[in-house]
Amino acid sequence: MNDTTVNTSAAGEVVETDVIIVGAGPVGLFAVFELGLLDIRCALIDILDRSGGQCAELYPEKPIYDIPGYPIITGQALVEKLMEQIHPFHPTFHLSQMVETLGREPDGRFRLTTDAGTTFLGKVVVIAAGGGSFQPKRPPVPGIEAYEGTAVFYAVRRMEDYRGHDLLVVGGGDSALDWTLNLQPLARSLTLLHRRDEFRAAPDSVNKMRALVEAGKIKLALGQVSGLKGEGGRLTHATVKDKAGAENEIACTRILPFFGLTMKLGPVANWGLNLHENLVPVDTARFESSEPGIFAVGDINTYPGKLKLILCGFHEVALMAQAAVHIVFPEKKIVFQYTTSSSSLQKKLGVI
Ligand SMILES: Cc1cc2nc3c(=O)[nH]c(=O)nc-3n(C[C@H](O)[C@H](O)[C@H](O)COP(=O)(O)OP(=O)(O)OC[C@H]3O[C@@H](n4cnc5c(N)ncnc54)[C@H](O)[C@@H]3O)c2cc1C
Repeated sequence: MNDTTVNTSAAGEVVETDVIIVGAGPVGLFAVFELGLLDIRCALIDILDRSGGQCAELYPEKPIYDIPGYPIITGQALVEKLMEQIHPFHPTFHLSQMVETLGREPDGRFRLTTDAGTTFLGKVVVIAAGGGSFQPKRPPVPGIEAYEGTAVFYAVRRMEDYRGHDLLVVGGGDSALDWTLNLQPLARSLTLLHRRDEFRAAPDSVNKMRALVEAGKIKLALGQVSGLKGEGGRLTHATVKDKAGAENEIACTRILPFFGLTMKLGPVANWGLNLHENLVPVDTARFESSEPGIFAVGDINTYPGKLKLILCGFHEVALMAQAAVHIVFPEKKIVFQYTTSSSSLQKKLGVI
């Protein structure tokens, strides 16, 4: 794994940088490149546990045919290429956290806070939040809300929190299988529950899971959770209904349901920006919002003729960077340069 992907913030930490980028989708990633060429440091924040936004989360293996210079490239491969391209600029990544609040400091800098308790201070904010925050789909289990945050979790923030627990992992996709494999060594017991004995996850993960079942290290159950038993947020059992309608109980103290994600605008709506149909209107010279210093690029913005295409987002970040540099370095004279011919840009890229 590229060291650019390391999650570098902790609860209570204050991260100071030049530009804070909300969203590490393809457009947020390429913003790092355009800003980096102008010597601007970036911190990226994403609610997901990896970079890549929709490309990585919704269609990692689908081919994309309209990225200039790549006649065909999968969503995940594009993300990997972008990560390689921005590596020379060493952005910091702050993953698995959602930006909740955005305000201004008395010194004019922006202050952002996340649900993980991290604070970010920067001169410019770039909202690259795409269709908004990916939010986990809640399984239709009566009374599940009473256990959310105490025994039911939709994402694994810290593996250690699951040590010694009786775990029930629910789902048949990559997340369910990945966490089954990763948490098995820590858990006191682990049951993987899926509707049927077919899995959407990568075949290699499925084979590894089946080997653990064979070895008696985990259990595989088929059916759906129909009820939960416990008290005061402490879980003891899940009731599971099989295809034939028969119910039985599985002892568990933690449940991890992985039922996919939906996209909701989320906290961006509360940041005091003018919104139009849940999108941030911007001008097409700077891609700045109604609030000076807050830019919006990629799927989250709107302007006449807007197309929600990755290549349009790439164009937007190039112009955004040319505007943002005057806020970050108000005194600096900016000379437009090509990467092909500028030795100063090539030094920054580490190619000479
Ligand atoms: C199935 C499918 C196929 C597609 N095919 C193509 C194609 O062939 N060609 C093409 O050009 N486009 C295609 N698209 C569209 C393309 O994926 C989007 O245009 C692109 O992903 C937009 O990039 P983005 O960086 O603006 O946003 P996103 O990729 O949506 O990334 C935004 C990121 O912001 C994060 N975020 C949001 N709110 C917060 C918050 N409050 N705090 C922290 N993080 C937050 C999200 O978790 C997300 O990771 C396709 C889309 C789909 C769904």
